[in-house]
Amino acid sequence: MAQRSKFQCPHCKESMTIRSSREAHPLLRQLWFQCSNYLCGFTCGGNLEITHQISPSACPRPGIQLKTHDEITAQRKAANDELANYT
Ligand SMILES: [Zn+2]
Repeated sequence: MAQRSKFQCPHCKESMTIRSSREAHPLLRQLWFQCSNYLCGFTCGGNLEITHQISPSACPRPGIQLKTHDEITAQRKAANDELANYT
């Protein structure tokens, strides 16, 4: 069954429908979208990825390790600082 998404068509700005999806990894899902505007007809693929955790699971699965929001933020700040020192 098709599912409405929060994604807008990058061409006509109408809503996109998720036509199909598959799990590529427990943290990554591949999606296929179709624009709801039949005059546009745009279709595309994309990914939905879990990138970090806000609160840890009470029943963690072995092999699933995510950085925290603070770790991601510190990593981005360090990369930006390094870039600023480079220029
Ligand atoms: Zn469109």
